[in-house]
Amino acid sequence: MNRGPRITRRGFLAAGAAAALAACTQDQEPAQEPARSADSANAPTTTGRTGDEAPTPTTPVDPTPTTRPTDPPLSVELTNDPFELGVASGDPTPTAVILWTRLLVADNIAIPETGLDVRWEVASDDTFAEVLATDVTAAVPSLALSVHADATGLEPDTWYWYRFRVGDRMSPTGRTRTLPDLDSSQQSLRFGFSSCQHWESGYYSAHRHLSEESLDIFFWLGDYIYESGPTSAPLEATGQPRVHDGPEVRDLQGYRDRYALYKSDPDLKQHHASHPWLVTWDDHEVSNNYAGSIGENGQTTDEFLQLRAAAYRAWYEHMPVRLEPPTGPDFPIHRQFAWGDLAEIFVLDGRQYRDDQPTDGATVQVPGTQGQTLPLRELGPTSLDPNHQFLGRDQQAWMTDGVVNSDRTWKLLAQQVLMQGLSVPLGDGPVTITDTWDGYFANRHLILTEMDEAGVENLVVLSGDLHSAIVGDLRANPYAYDTRVVGTELMASAISSAFPTGGGDLTTLISLFNPQIKHFDTNNGYTVCDLTPERCTAMLRVVTDVADPSAEVETAVTFVIDNGVPGARRA
Ligand code: FE
Ligand code: CA
Repeated sequence: MNRGPRITRRGFLAAGAAAALAACTQDQEPAQEPARSADSANAPTTTGRTGDEAPTPTTPVDPTPTTRPTDPPLSVELTNDPFELGVASGDPTPTAVILWTRLLVADNIAIPETGLDVRWEVASDDTFAEVLATDVTAAVPSLALSVHADATGLEPDTWYWYRFRVGDRMSPTGRTRTLPDLDSSQQSLRFGFSSCQHWESGYYSAHRHLSEESLDIFFWLGDYIYESGPTSAPLEATGQPRVHDGPEVRDLQGYRDRYALYKSDPDLKQHHASHPWLVTWDDHEVSNNYAGSIGENGQTTDEFLQLRAAAYRAWYEHMPVRLEPPTGPDFPIHRQFAWGDLAEIFVLDGRQYRDDQPTDGATVQVPGTQGQTLPLRELGPTSLDPNHQFLGRDQQAWMTDGVVNSDRTWKLLAQQVLMQGLSVPLGDGPVTITDTWDGYFANRHLILTEMDEAGVENLVVLSGDLHSAIVGDLRANPYAYDTRVVGTELMASAISSAFPTGGGDLTTLISLFNPQIKHFDTNNGYTVCDLTPERCTAMLRVVTDVADPSAEVETAVTFVIDNGVPGARRA
């Protein structure tokens, strides 16, 4: 992975100075709670803090003590809490982790192009008594005042606390961790994953419960924002708990505002602050069902690539990723991680490099849908062409080689859309969702055959997008039920987005006609997996009511994948 120079300076990593710094700061700041409890769900901030300001100390404190790194005063006066979007961390290595925040300042404050200096601190506990690493990073207007600080020099397999400071304003505290040593023997990894958090479809109780799951890492599999305008129907008619606050997003400012809206949610902030995330995107971070350089709204390629460049830039600005900011419409984000000898992890991009969804099969309308459409089609010649690309040749070769050559026990593919097949008999023949891997049938066949023939074991594909939880078998041809199972797919429920059907017809058909699918439900929630050398235990959690901001969570069902046995069994 490329790791170019970052806009940090005045490096500072010294225990002695850190202790002195701590002595200056610890009695100014209250101890931070890493996460609030469920019964304080409506607390105004994501930590134990009760207001915007640090409490006033009883004895006056020298604002520029000589024993701490000298941060010059800000050139502007901040009139609001600049940390309203919270903090986040992600893309850990065994010795480093990316720390993220984005400053929000009032519109009438002119920020110089050189930005505002933001100090970050990493400590061994939430009192920050021992600051282990700290530095200053400039939050610049050209990147929406976002900060991506690479906290380096950390210990492997270790939890840390972090926070940011700009001027006299302090951020909430986040908790994060490093990966174990790449060569180490690991007995367990606990991870969660989910996708699809449409603002208008419900509250983020799932995120609040995820923050309390004691996860090591969390995979976000796409649709972090939805780009659409506000719903046209009155709220009373739709029952939607909240609406988008602006029109359909068409430019960089629009995307920035949409991320800011979503990131204002206290449950989402709490979840980001709880553990590191490994994120990828799907279509709605740009435009519904886009494919490569092709949009859905009839734009020219140039027009669409301009929109894609804006969307990718805004995505970078708001995600805790170990990447350099994109400078145009091309932005490689697929990347690889490892959990000791236990898991090889590939984070994939199934949008940027794919060919267009096939349109040469007959299409059908799903009965019972309420103005929403799933692109259901018969498989035509395009999907049966092995050159019709899903990941693009480079990413496909990188992933396939990586999986085939990995010695680690489990191979996890964190990616966007359903990889196993799903078909229903609604046309003259069966129809599939051509926005998923079914639309790239021969390409999928090639990839899974190559892995199968190379003897790949313990392939587990994580996915999202269908606003439902699915557990099933992966075969090179998903509908050839007498052929070998190559791996297992776990699709997590959506955080809040709704399955696009008004009636039960489609869900019944899916369950009746897809023996490869062991479980299908359209609840909201997420999945938590306990990975050990022996097995992968997947717990499918559902929230009791997505329209209730204080909803509880329940385990709907648990599946187990045994080492060496592709396919999941009900626990
Ligand atoms: Fe979605
Ligand atoms: Ca999607």
